[in-house]
Amino acid sequence: MKKHNFYAGPSILSEYTIKNTADAILDFAGTGLSILEVSHRSKEFTAVIEEAQQLVKELLEVPEGYSVLFLGGGASMQFCMVPYNLLKKKAAYIDTGTWASNAIKEARLFGEVEVLASSKDKNYTYIPKGFVVPDDVDYFHYTSNNTIYGTEIRHDPQVNVPLVADMSSDIFSRPIDVSKYDIIYAGAQKNLAPAGVTIVIVKDECLGNVDRAIPTMLDYRTHIKKGSMFNTPPVLPIYSALQTLRYYKELGGVKEMERRDLAKAEMLYEAIDSSKMFVGTVEPEDRSIMNVCFVMKPEYDGLDKEFIDFASTKGIVGIKGHRSVGGFRASLYNALPIESVKVLVEAMKEFEKNH
Ligand SMILES: *Cc1c(COP(=O)(O)O)cnc(C)c1O
Repeated sequence: MKKHNFYAGPSILSEYTIKNTADAILDFAGTGLSILEVSHRSKEFTAVIEEAQQLVKELLEVPEGYSVLFLGGGASMQFCMVPYNLLKKKAAYIDTGTWASNAIKEARLFGEVEVLASSKDKNYTYIPKGFVVPDDVDYFHYTSNNTIYGTEIRHDPQVNVPLVADMSSDIFSRPIDVSKYDIIYAGAQKNLAPAGVTIVIVKDECLGNVDRAIPTMLDYRTHIKKGSMFNTPPVLPIYSALQTLRYYKELGGVKEMERRDLAKAEMLYEAIDSSKMFVGTVEPEDRSIMNVCFVMKPEYDGLDKEFIDFASTKGIVGIKGHRSVGGFRASLYNALPIESVKVLVEAMKEFEKNH
């Protein structure tokens, strides 16, 4: 049976990406060797990483003066790398969920952290508004999409200080104005590639302003100077990322991704809002188009597992909500076809009719 993959991460990849990655595991670029067993300094792999960098620049219209890096360590490594490289005295963060608060915790190891706003009071079901970013901070950090709670900031904030964003779970889902940011980072396993590589887009001139010594591997300048080849980069995830980037380009770029993602999200939210049984957990204006969180209404309490089992008979996998929210979470990343959303919506309607 065809599976409909709604996992939050690692998550669905396009058939194009998986097929081409599988082919390269058997024979990489006509070398007669697997990509798993070649030097990262071979001319064939050098071409891969260079094209991947180029395509990130092209798809996101990265301006001059920025570097695109492919690093190990996951997005969580960036929680410390950002303050290591940028925090002199004080940074500002907003607390919009688990990942945001993990980032805050790491930044506190390096200086003063001002948490401008938090939505913890309502279990992160909304995006705080009306906070003011002070002019005297070294940077302002936010999480554009809160993967666990299903809220999203779908615009590039206008601030007067350097801007840093964790875009792990919504990068490539809309055009962004990179020139507004000093650093954007994103773990690959939500919208790009298998786990193991993190994309970092960094404005070169924001580096070199802190006094502390930075370990070589955690200094962005090391990786800029060496083109992400200071040490062995995550070769296979980078190869897969290149396939996905080519695929995005072929489909029409991030504008087209956004059009598709909006259509999918609209279809599912519409089904939730018109349901007697299900209800969304997030303030409608802050809803994520990547991760849709919903629960059973109180009068249907106790049917969660039955619905998940029922959905699995339709090939639907990965809709169990994160333990800190409960209920259900359907992740609608770029690679998920709208047909899968239709199958989920029909399963919800059928289940509702049977109860
Ligand atoms: C998944 C996720 C992370 C953590 O990524 P790792 O690569 O596992 O460290 C961080 N931030 C956001 C927004 C995420 O969705």
